[in-house]
Amino acid sequence: MIPNLIGSEWRAPADGTRSLPVFNPATGEVIEQVPLSTDREVDAAVSAAAAAFPSWSRTALMERVRLMFRYKAVLEEHFEELASIVTRHHGKTLEESRGEVRRGIEVVDFACGAPTLLQGRTLRDVSGGVDQDLYRYPIGVCAGVPPFNFPVMIPLWMYPLAVVAGNTFVLKPSDRTPLGGQRLAELFLQAGFPEGVLNLVHGAGEAVDALLRHPKVAAISFVGSAPVARHVYETAAANGKRVQALGGAKNHIVIMPDADLELTVPAILNSAFGNAGERCLSGSVAVAVGRAADALLDPLRDAASRMVVGPGDQPGVQIGPLIRAEHRDKVAGYVDKGVAEGAQLVVDGRHEMSRPGFFLGPTILDRVTAGMTVGHEEIFGPVLSVARAATLDDAIGQANQMALGNMATIFTQSGRSAREFRERVEAGMTGINVPIAQPFAFFPFSGWKGSFYGDLHVHGTDGIDFYTRKKVVVTRW
Ligand code: NAD
Repeated sequence: MIPNLIGSEWRAPADGTRSLPVFNPATGEVIEQVPLSTDREVDAAVSAAAAAFPSWSRTALMERVRLMFRYKAVLEEHFEELASIVTRHHGKTLEESRGEVRRGIEVVDFACGAPTLLQGRTLRDVSGGVDQDLYRYPIGVCAGVPPFNFPVMIPLWMYPLAVVAGNTFVLKPSDRTPLGGQRLAELFLQAGFPEGVLNLVHGAGEAVDALLRHPKVAAISFVGSAPVARHVYETAAANGKRVQALGGAKNHIVIMPDADLELTVPAILNSAFGNAGERCLSGSVAVAVGRAADALLDPLRDAASRMVVGPGDQPGVQIGPLIRAEHRDKVAGYVDKGVAEGAQLVVDGRHEMSRPGFFLGPTILDRVTAGMTVGHEEIFGPVLSVARAATLDDAIGQANQMALGNMATIFTQSGRSAREFRERVEAGMTGINVPIAQPFAFFPFSGWKGSFYGDLHVHGTDGIDFYTRKKVVVTRW
């Protein structure tokens, strides 16, 4: 069973600790056991972080930054290893894992800019002989709860910015993909950070709830499904904590009749089926405007049918397995439900379910409407719904009906349509002729509506604001 990291000690779970299996989703084999930590282990991790805080928060900024640069170098040295860990227990292709690791390290790059990011402001002579200065301070022990689908990138959205700002941290990796966080924490110690700055406690809901209630935790960063995001937001706030809680998604791709199909068809496949659809920025509903549907469907069907499904570490594979057999069955259940509710099955990936491992091939449903279950619920698998709209106005209306508002993207050659879409669509991450509108580390990851609870988003300057508190000093001599 994998251990927790308490201070500088890798602590084996106590006898009798319950655990969950960690799988290789490409084979269905169990490769590890993850402990289900309880209040006791969470308290030990938080106490270690709290004990480290006074000294770490007073460590000179340039020393914290020097360690962050060293961490960046260590992560680069272990880049391929981290990517293969992701593929091994998440299932995505190695190419996708490399993309994830790169995007994660970019947050470390951003954190290395702390001398600029942590600056305050001054204004002299605000009134006669009075100056005002704004300083930023760390807030204390922060905790992070990532989801299963980016086991390296999403933890890296959290603790590098928190610790470079002088906070200490407790990470609770996903119980389904805990090995990315495990290796990241080992490399963090290898980079030379002092004990207790980053602690790791494995577990599931019980461990998260213990963090949400713990009086010494000042802030919670959460990424996961919409109902759990809401629970985390409400519980953390009720316990007086700062919270940023990123939830689920139901993203729309709008295709205008003037879209360049050579660009659009591969982009839709990437958006819907990349990461096997287990991505909060995946396009779930392709809304074809006017005659776009006639032009789109045949090339989409042909290209999707040719996609190579298989283990993510095999060359040429484009779609890896889903995370668990139960999740795959749930996704397949959505396909059944879509057909039962009147959608037309254009490509059926369910034949891939007979392989060992948790596979489902790319699947396309046509004539989906927002009222159908597949038209408004998050599926989180390789299922693309095609919907029809008479006009751009109608397409934007369909996207805006969703309770979630993470991403939306449009394909068009018209600046006017693109601008109209940008202005009116209710999605915090909006794309124009791109499959996945992912903000880089220096912008906030900015979901709207039910896709986000809180006000300061992860990374970018929002991340710095989230992990610091401001003090204004008014001076007269
Ligand atoms: P999840 O909500 O099941 O789990 C997320 C984390 O919460 C895990 O660490 C898990 O151990 C913990 N958890 C699970 N149930 C809990 C409970 N009842 N109480 C407290 N903690 C609990 O999400 P998941 O299945 O791991 O991840 C997929 C979801 O995450 C999708 O909905 C996806 O859209 C979303 N997601 C969102 C973003 C974003 O940026 N908005 C990014 C990635 C994933």
